[in-house]
Amino acid sequence: MSAHREHDHDHEPGAGHRHPFQPDLEDGPYTWHMALTDAVADLLLAKGIVTPDELRRTLEEIDSKNPALGARLVARAWVDPAFKARLLADVNAAAAELGIDAGGIPIRAIECRPGEHHVVVCTLCSCYPRLLLGPPPDWYKARAYRSRVVREPRAVLAEFGLVLPEDVRVIVHDSTAELRFMVLPMRPEGTEGWDEERLAALVTRDCLIGVAVPRPPSA
Ligand code: FE
Repeated sequence: MSAHREHDHDHEPGAGHRHPFQPDLEDGPYTWHMALTDAVADLLLAKGIVTPDELRRTLEEIDSKNPALGARLVARAWVDPAFKARLLADVNAAAAELGIDAGGIPIRAIECRPGEHHVVVCTLCSCYPRLLLGPPPDWYKARAYRSRVVREPRAVLAEFGLVLPEDVRVIVHDSTAELRFMVLPMRPEGTEGWDEERLAALVTRDCLIGVAVPRPPSA
């Protein structure tokens, strides 16, 4: 933490109460939810239920997650039909097979097929399989995406550069606090014989949300 931050922390109203592990994002007011988060964190620390180091380590662990973990699951599913079946049955258990702790909230994989495309949203807030894919992109949390992708998914996907043929059905999945989703995209043509690592490199974060599809590098 810089000396400047220390100064802000001491004297800025509202932001003055933020914990050092929460950056002072200067893009909005100190909200009710931020105050609630701070109050709960203060209580947990004050009562010795968690130590500052445990809290920091947990946040560090969460921040270490990234879409490459989800990409590994997809690549394995593409080369191993039995694994794919297990992934579709239980993402958290399938992730554990690869040594990935995807957390305790169930994640469901939804498989794209010819004529059927899937895309994920949380219309209410920003529910997302963070423990598998890392933090969601800012647009995922934005009101515009959350409201529009449900009403006009094709138009929204086109804005992401994904123009789907009219005969492809688009299915939107609304995440909740109890159930999160990852998209299992179709394996691109021209990748026959590729190993898992090379395949995984094709699967970006946006492919796992469903606003993009994996393409071979030549495409
Ligand atoms: Fe949410």
